[in-house]
Amino acid sequence: MVHCLVLAYPAQGHINPMHYFSKLLQQKGVRVTFVTTFSFCKKLQNVPASISLETISDGFDKGGVDEAGSYKSYFERFWQVGPKSLGDLLERVGRSGEGVDCVIYDSAFPWALEVAKRLEIAGAAFLTQNMFVNSIYYHVHQGKLSLPITQNEISLPFLPKLQHQDMPTFFFPTDANNAALLDLLLSQFSNIHKADWILCNSLYHMEKELTDWTMKIWSNLRTIGPCSTSMLLNKRLRDDEDEGDVTQFKDEECMKWLDDKPKQCVVYVSFGSMGVVKEEQIKEVAYGLRDSESYFLWTMRASEENKLPKDFEKRSEKGLVVRWCSQVKVLAHEAIGCFVTHCGWNSVLEALSLGVPMLAMPCWSDQYTNAKLIADVWNLGIRAEVDDKNIVRGQVLKHCIMEIMKSERGKKVKRNAMEFKALAEHAISEEGKSHKNTVEFLNSLAGSTENNQSAGNGKINSC
Ligand code: UDP
Repeated sequence: MVHCLVLAYPAQGHINPMHYFSKLLQQKGVRVTFVTTFSFCKKLQNVPASISLETISDGFDKGGVDEAGSYKSYFERFWQVGPKSLGDLLERVGRSGEGVDCVIYDSAFPWALEVAKRLEIAGAAFLTQNMFVNSIYYHVHQGKLSLPITQNEISLPFLPKLQHQDMPTFFFPTDANNAALLDLLLSQFSNIHKADWILCNSLYHMEKELTDWTMKIWSNLRTIGPCSTSMLLNKRLRDDEDEGDVTQFKDEECMKWLDDKPKQCVVYVSFGSMGVVKEEQIKEVAYGLRDSESYFLWTMRASEENKLPKDFEKRSEKGLVVRWCSQVKVLAHEAIGCFVTHCGWNSVLEALSLGVPMLAMPCWSDQYTNAKLIADVWNLGIRAEVDDKNIVRGQVLKHCIMEIMKSERGKKVKRNAMEFKALAEHAISEEGKSHKNTVEFLNSLAGSTENNQSAGNGKINSC
């Protein structure tokens, strides 16, 4: 049996796609060991018993990056202790007779490839961003796009023309944290050419020309997305054990609340698992939702709640604010008509693969590039305009919601979103690119396993 060790960066937007990909592998007959840091592991719920869970140290075993106090200190220490911790784990697993055939590592950990190579184990980089964003960082890493950006318009092969407002925010560093994050993102490409496989959580047909062009540089690049929605989309893979995402408890309340609402009448709002939204912006969103003619469901972390206006009702006939929900299940609910999103890549991929139009309100990182793609390239939504303080005003939000939910333009976007949903469904079907790519990847591992075993039972199930 092929055994993959899947190493995920300790953040929701990385854990989710890699965990779903692990489940997919496990359903295809692969033995999976899922690994993250001690501190993040404590937050994991709902990991199926069939997937073994292991931890490595990042040097801050109590509280991860919060304990470190800054990304700079966090990465410095993690990069010192992580490789040894991973090496020890691989050796321990090897001694127990369950040797690992491939380390599928988050591309944020280029050192994991060096560890795997030293132990003569195959290494597969897992890219959690889309190919457009990967390409931007790759060009900066290669020195083909210089920072700071001085030109008004940025042209890169097979990308739309980009303005400053479409670029990842880390290119305009404001503090040491942003600089540390930029280093991390660029370092993904330091040794990726040595990886045995490069797997990207994206859809080939959405980024076809760029993916084909990149495959001339990295011939072992394969798109395998969408990961988080594959269980929902593919009836063959439906998993009764599936409890949604892995890091939080189920939230039955919002599903019940949605059940009472008419079709496509609820606006779902989320700014993701990490971003910190300015208080002024939260207030404007609150007033925009209150004044809009739609129902709304807003998921907001506890640490953000005190930014809501004092007179704003968190629970009413019209709206519900929850601390967390299973986003893929919410987006799949027929009551949802629009997603006000910060444009984190997982959120975008989840919305488009479930046919939900988006209202883009990017906050930081590559979310600005994703917003550009949503509005101007894929026509999957609209980007809310900001004022000169970089705030989307409540009236603007209200108008945009009307536009998506009620106008002719909104209907076109919805039709387009449904076409993307069909693309996603096809990608993970037996004839689809993502499915075939995953099987090709696994068969290559099974082939190596067979070569190392006298009894060749390493074949991969096709579903
Ligand atoms: N998510 C969720 N429930 C929530 C908010 C977010 O399940 O209430 C999930 C969402 O489905 C996605 C991930 O958290 O898979 C967030 O990743 P994304 O890349 O969208 O944004 P990030 O949190 O990394 O900024």
